[in-house]
Amino acid sequence: MDRLSHWIGGKLVPGESGRSGPVYNPATGEQTHEVDFASVPEVDLAVETAREAFTSWRRTSLSKRADIMFRIRETVHEHRADIARQITDQHGKVLSDAMGEVARGLENIEFATGLPNLLKGGFTEQASTGVDVYSIRQPLGVVAGVTPFNFPAMVPMWMFANAIACGNTFVLKPSEKDPGASLYVAELLKEAGLPDGVLNIVQGDKVVVDRLLTHPDVEAVSFVGSTPIARYIYSTGTANGKRVQALGGAKNHMVVLPDADIEMAADAAVSAAYGSAGERCMAISVAVAVGDAADRLVEAIKTRLPEVKIGHGLDPESEMGPLVTREHRDKVAGYLDSAREQGATIVEDGRQLGLYRESEGFFLGVSLIDHVSTDMDAYKDEIFGPVLEVMRVDTYDEALRLVNDNPYGNGTAIFTRDGGAARAFQFDVQAGMVGVNVPIPVPVGYYSFGGWKDSLFGDTHMYGPEGINFYTRGKVVTERWPDPGTSSVDLGFPRTR
Ligand code: NAD
Repeated sequence: MDRLSHWIGGKLVPGESGRSGPVYNPATGEQTHEVDFASVPEVDLAVETAREAFTSWRRTSLSKRADIMFRIRETVHEHRADIARQITDQHGKVLSDAMGEVARGLENIEFATGLPNLLKGGFTEQASTGVDVYSIRQPLGVVAGVTPFNFPAMVPMWMFANAIACGNTFVLKPSEKDPGASLYVAELLKEAGLPDGVLNIVQGDKVVVDRLLTHPDVEAVSFVGSTPIARYIYSTGTANGKRVQALGGAKNHMVVLPDADIEMAADAAVSAAYGSAGERCMAISVAVAVGDAADRLVEAIKTRLPEVKIGHGLDPESEMGPLVTREHRDKVAGYLDSAREQGATIVEDGRQLGLYRESEGFFLGVSLIDHVSTDMDAYKDEIFGPVLEVMRVDTYDEALRLVNDNPYGNGTAIFTRDGGAARAFQFDVQAGMVGVNVPIPVPVGYYSFGGWKDSLFGDTHMYGPEGINFYTRGKVVTERWPDPGTSSVDLGFPRTR
């Protein structure tokens, strides 16, 4: 059994804690690796290594750091197919989707290559007589990232690209379910010339995360994962004096107005609900059909479902792969029973899929539930699987209220031909990312990503300009130079005039 270990100081460091966990190939159900879980001393070693590397990394000139970021971009781009393969092997998503994940991660590295420009400060000449004022942004020190299983390469890139470009050193704790891709990326960064100790990886579970949250030398923590853990990370990290951004779960609604292009809306709903087997924080999980859009939309979605090709992620024919673990697959399937018992209509039950019954892989077919209401468990919980729910409302106002009353506020979308309705929606809707006839409005790398309400704890969104702010702190310098004859003792509060 292959072991996956830690990456500290630019090399693989085998775990010594005696604790570990299994990593599966979800398409076959086989355990392929055992991943080491770090102990507190192993986490401390990674933080200490990062702290030592910080001393010289923050002194490295911007042009040299930018040069390394460019080389990282080239190396990751060159090996993007290998990274995607690692993702498919351990996460299960189809290879084309994994390639898309790497491409979106690369956007963040590309953004970070602009660091000399991004870190420019401001300067005010002659703020007072002979006095100039300037502002700069400096790195924090050692920063940590804790990431989810569903984007094992992209989400770490959301964090470390800006963090290291700004001059910080980084300790990553990837998901224990699919840690292979980030280890491989760490090797690529070394190959690209990143100094040892600037990026470190400790594998593991809550023990590791708790140590990072309390370690006195960790200045900031970025987290992406489910809402209960995000809330915990935020409260524990901030109570320990750290800067924290913690992105949580989602329940993304797509509102379909009666005037929408129903064929386009159905294509979008199927793509956004079932892509990556619904294991995306920006997946559409609820279609809110307004008025007479409902029957037409459900019919149009239903006709598309038999066409979705489900299979092994390495099969180029496959459009949707398995779920990440057997337990998660079974939990997702359980919502089909509870929804039926609580009064919904199961239009398509993914358990009818041959692969669900006959394969050892963690497959579940596409599932469609109609007549869902807010009191059902299937609505209240984030299902995180290939299940699309349809809710029927009479008016636009009802649809908006439904979206706004939901505790999550990650992404949402509206489908309509009415520009005024779309504008009203983006103005009033309580969510951090909004699509107009776009079902998965993940911001490009030069904007920032983040939800509202229970989808994000903290003040700053992730990556893009807000990422630069998160990983730096401001300093303002007020300076004057000796000018004979202008100096005197003055006990008053400094004035500028
Ligand atoms: P998760 O919350 O179970 O795990 C995320 C990370 O936290 C992992 O590294 C895990 O090891 C760690 N962790 C788990 N339990 C912990 C605990 N008790 N204490 C400390 N650390 C703990 O999430 P997941 O199942 O890996 O990922 C899926 C979730 O992530 C979904 O809820 C999804 O919506 C969310 N997600 C959100 C975004 C976003 O941008 N908002 C993006 C991707 C995924």
